[in-house]
Amino acid sequence: MGGREGGKKATAKKGKKQRIGKKHSSPKIYKFYEVKGSEVVRNHKTCPRCGSGVFMAHHKDRDYCGRCGYTISAKK
Ligand SMILES: [Zn+2]
Repeated sequence: MGGREGGKKATAKKGKKQRIGKKHSSPKIYKFYEVKGSEVVRNHKTCPRCGSGVFMAHHKDRDYCGRCGYTISAKK
């Protein structure tokens, strides 16, 4: 008599999570300089290719630009 339908709950099955690879286009800005008083002292070299503003990652015996891949081997 009752017009009641069986309460079926729509269960959303969780599928496998799709992992998205590393994004390349996200610019990461690191703090590569220190502010001493009113002067800004740069701790890292800037990339000669990308120009000032793009700092190079300092490695053991070389500096590497993560943006264009420019490498400067530090020779003394
Ligand atoms: Zn560069």
